[in-house]
Amino acid sequence: MRLRMLGTGSADGWPNPFCHCQSCESMRMSGRHRQATAALVDSTLMIDAGPTAGYAASAAGWSLASVEHLLLTHAHPDHLAPSLLLWRQWISRLGELHVWGPQSAIDSCRDWVGPDDPVTLHVVTAGEVIAARSALGTYQVSVLAANHDPYGNDVIAEQAVLFDITAPDGARLLYGTDTAAFTSDMAESVAEAHFDIVLLDETFGTTVDHRTGHHDLDTFTQTVALLRTVNAIDEHTDVIAIHLSHHNPPEGELAARLADIGARIVPDLADIGGARSRLVTGGARSGKSSYAEVLASHSRAVTYVATGYPALDEEWQERLRAHRARRPTHFTTIESIDLPQVLNHARANEVVLIDCITVWLTRTIDAACAWDDPALARHTAVGAVTSLVASLGACKADVILVTNEVGSGVIPANASGRMFADLLGMTNAQLAQACDAVDLVVVGQPIPIKRS
Ligand SMILES: [Zn+2]
Ligand SMILES: [Zn+2]
Ligand SMILES: [Zn+2]
Repeated sequence: MRLRMLGTGSADGWPNPFCHCQSCESMRMSGRHRQATAALVDSTLMIDAGPTAGYAASAAGWSLASVEHLLLTHAHPDHLAPSLLLWRQWISRLGELHVWGPQSAIDSCRDWVGPDDPVTLHVVTAGEVIAARSALGTYQVSVLAANHDPYGNDVIAEQAVLFDITAPDGARLLYGTDTAAFTSDMAESVAEAHFDIVLLDETFGTTVDHRTGHHDLDTFTQTVALLRTVNAIDEHTDVIAIHLSHHNPPEGELAARLADIGARIVPDLADIGGARSRLVTGGARSGKSSYAEVLASHSRAVTYVATGYPALDEEWQERLRAHRARRPTHFTTIESIDLPQVLNHARANEVVLIDCITVWLTRTIDAACAWDDPALARHTAVGAVTSLVASLGACKADVILVTNEVGSGVIPANASGRMFADLLGMTNAQLAQACDAVDLVVVGQPIPIKRS
């Protein structure tokens, strides 16, 4: 599971734009700020959609185009600005979006969905389990009761829910905001969960007389302890405080307080458990492969994915031998063109180096017997690239993809050559869009093309 934070702040954000307290001033001094809490799981599942969530994604260079499920905790305006559905409506050719949330949240979405919009609204209540199917597999989502209305005076808060999400790769996340201290029933509902990541409301910091449906540092500490006793949190769980407001001490002091109880803070746009992805492009013999190998060799574990054909003749075998000899011994070589499968199985602390996309695309079109059918070839290439991009978005490892720059040489003389150049150009453009970084290698020299 790759988790990306679209925001980690409270409703008013941190700093509060109208406030000059010491906590707000220290945030302004640091040049940082925190926007309404929302998160992106892999590239397919989004949790909460406050007023800044879409802009946050764009600021980080992330796209929401592959989001297939939007989970809403409740209808408070920092968690739901349904106009996001209108911005999505303006883009054609997007697939189906399922929106899941309590009655009041779903009701606020209705006016923002057009009659032909591929959007389905689902009302959920605590205790339900959703099977959220996506291009990456099925996410199992248990809907949990929140304790967001402890004083019984807010219908929206009363309906608020939390989410316990198990990704197709088995990683398990608790999205725990907005809520005050967990009751024993709430803790019982996640007993033995052994979460990988727990995101937990810690709105009020050192202010303890707030009388709201949120945690402060004292009640946050109690909830973490309770979750430990039921084995929802164990020594491997990454516990992250979210929905942070200026009632908290300055970040350095807050981080120290949280470290004492085994929790931490992360900045907005933090990319947790996720990969850095890089596309390395260049002409034939430009030095792109050796550059990519140098980049990868800094990691202790490298999976080298060879997409090439088995050696056909002596000269080619010799080339392959030379290639292999150059690779450091801690590289594990696998031969495959099922790149989504390779990426889905990659581990968090390794680098996957794919060399190269050009041959992968050739073999993908081969496998579909599509060389004489341009429409089929395009359909095949688009489908393969779409699933590759989705797997990149979810991959836990760092990924380096090597490809050939098209169009700088002569225009191919035959039709299938020209068709292939078109498809590779399309593939490269989509991968460049999806990757965090793009480098062009020319005469052995890497030139940075994109950094995010
Ligand atoms: Zn909130
Ligand atoms: Zn303040
Ligand atoms: Zn709320």
